[in-house]
Amino acid sequence: MSNVTELFSSMVFDDTTMEALLPKQTYKALQKTIKNGEKLDANVATVVANAMKDWAISKGATHFTHWFQPMTGVTAEKHDSFIQPKDGGKIIMEFSGKELMQGEPDASSFPSGGIRATFEARGYTAWDATSYAFVKEGVLYIPTVFCSYGGEALDQKTALLRSMEAISKQAVRILKLFGNEDVKQVKTTVGPEQEYFLVDKAEYDKRKDLIYTGRTLFGCRAPKGQELDDHYFGAIKPRVQAYMKDLNDELWKLGILAKTEHNEVAPAQHELAPVFSTTNIASDHNQLTMELMQKVAKKHGMVCLLHEKPFAGVNGSGKHNNWSISTDTGVNLLDPGETPYENAQFLLFLAAVIKAVDEYQDLIRISVASAGNDHRLGANEAPPAIVSMFLGSDLQAVVDAIMTDTPYAKGDKETIKLGVNTIPRLPKDTTDRNRTSPFAFTGNKFELRSLGSSDSISCCNTVLNTAVAEILDGFATELEAAADFEDALHTLVQKTLVEHKRIIFNGDGYDESWVKEAEARGLSNYKTTPDALAHLLDEKNVELFKKHNVYSDRELEARHEVKLENYAKIIHIEVLTMLDMANKDILPAMSKFSAELADAAAKKTAAGTSAKYEKATIEDITAHLDAMFDAVKKLEADEVKGADITDVVALGDFCRDVIIPDMEEVRKHSDAMEMIADQKSWPYPSYGQMLFGVR
Ligand code: ADP
Ligand code: MG
Repeated sequence: MSNVTELFSSMVFDDTTMEALLPKQTYKALQKTIKNGEKLDANVATVVANAMKDWAISKGATHFTHWFQPMTGVTAEKHDSFIQPKDGGKIIMEFSGKELMQGEPDASSFPSGGIRATFEARGYTAWDATSYAFVKEGVLYIPTVFCSYGGEALDQKTALLRSMEAISKQAVRILKLFGNEDVKQVKTTVGPEQEYFLVDKAEYDKRKDLIYTGRTLFGCRAPKGQELDDHYFGAIKPRVQAYMKDLNDELWKLGILAKTEHNEVAPAQHELAPVFSTTNIASDHNQLTMELMQKVAKKHGMVCLLHEKPFAGVNGSGKHNNWSISTDTGVNLLDPGETPYENAQFLLFLAAVIKAVDEYQDLIRISVASAGNDHRLGANEAPPAIVSMFLGSDLQAVVDAIMTDTPYAKGDKETIKLGVNTIPRLPKDTTDRNRTSPFAFTGNKFELRSLGSSDSISCCNTVLNTAVAEILDGFATELEAAADFEDALHTLVQKTLVEHKRIIFNGDGYDESWVKEAEARGLSNYKTTPDALAHLLDEKNVELFKKHNVYSDRELEARHEVKLENYAKIIHIEVLTMLDMANKDILPAMSKFSAELADAAAKKTAAGTSAKYEKATIEDITAHLDAMFDAVKKLEADEVKGADITDVVALGDFCRDVIIPDMEEVRKHSDAMEMIADQKSWPYPSYGQMLFGVR
């Protein structure tokens, strides 16, 4: 199929397909479930399931799966075939309403943070009808949530859906105050820009570190990196172009709005951005995008690296999470409107986001924390670990004028009064100049840049939605009680901006002076995952999630445990990989290399010629070889110590304080040897070969 419009969504049981294939009454009933979250009647489910099955079979499906997102951050699936035995040795293809609505995967090995142990070993999946079913590789996929027997979330999606409900409820209250009676529901929208690296499969296969950990644990810098900026937005190589075309086709079939693609800052780094969609759908689509990026790359003899920092010393990969709030009547609430009243509404939502980010800056930092992302945040690239906001000079001028009750422009006599004056038009393209800000206003949305490239987008959006819901709740309560709405509105926005202006920073987020200034402003700076996670269970955070029914105490505790466990497990695998590479490959290779040099030096000396290079290099290699051996022994010993630590918090701290510095020491000596060793003697492809290997 070459026609993109025909290809697009061809494998999705989407609205058009439903309308065409379902009886009218069934379609209407299902729409109510999708739009208003009404419970689906069992009889309706049977009809839907049957139509879905026939459609799926026509697309080549033989199996179905409930597709879910456990706390591991990736997706899970278990395939069941449609076949049912029939008398006479034949089969029929069946799919019941019950099978559509609920599943019971024996998924007891997924991390539950202790939730399941006290209830039942099994988790249940339930259809998320707001996200369309689709067919991929002969399987009908049904997007679901994954819960325990007691209804507690065991996945990432349940909380995301709950947070969307929370923000909707509070935003609708606010909109009523502005006379928007027709709005029944508000949804957050997300467009995640996905960064990734492509390396040649043959080179990848020679690197145990990439295979086991997704990043290079060793590797000295290549003669050329990203300093010339010649890769960024540069011409895309034919092989990569062919890959992107194939990837687009696969994504389009699944109804994923893959839109822009370009080369990124680092050599071999690229980006793909979709058109934004409702948050839970964006989350499903991003998971599929990551999966297909990897699958399609293999077909092209390449490997797609989604790790946040595959190569030291060159740019890492993130996922820019563009986030906004939209009404069911199609209004983007973060778009400054045309009239004074719309402006006032926009400024109120803006003030809510500012306050939410300030009060819950710790949660935002926590929501993007992972072992991989620790290499990015605060490492003098990407956004810093300090959460701050950037408004852009135009919006900043408006905010300043409101805060200080001064006229916006020099010639103006009047100060800005919300709901009476129109704020000046904010040109979209001039606002997004600050690429160092973790959370930047970009004209009609905010862009959270701290998220790691391999992470699910669920967690950070759950936090954003819930934090903003909480602030809107407070605003609504205050404004609903006000005698004079416009006065109260003006006072509220002004007060909020003044009280939370510390979170706004328009300067260079990479600059060392910002760290000091942020500290003076009282902003938090959690450099590592254990530092950040230490605050997840702070009382204010527990209360926030509980109040808005997003996470119960136990669900939040479970997440704390799973996240820390995950951090320690990742580092554990890295350590074992590093030791394997050091002991089996690097140390023996360098021992051999120095022995060869010694032979050469002896021969030369015997012949009466100088052996300056050989002797000096032997000295250098030997010094690093011995130091690396000592560092390996220390890492081995500390790894044994770590194995005895059972408390997840203590183990996380141990990884951060002892194991990671140990690993750095091992790497330092290895990289120094790689710099001077004979290329043929080095056991792995170099950074240069990997970063410039796809041609
Ligand atoms: P950039 O300069 O960061 O590349 P783009 O204009 O290309 O910015 O947009 C980046 C992403 O923002 C795209 O995925 C786009 O769909 C998304 N986006 C645009 N408007 C919204 C919105 N209202 N809500 C969420 N995401 C949006
Ligand atoms: Mg962007």
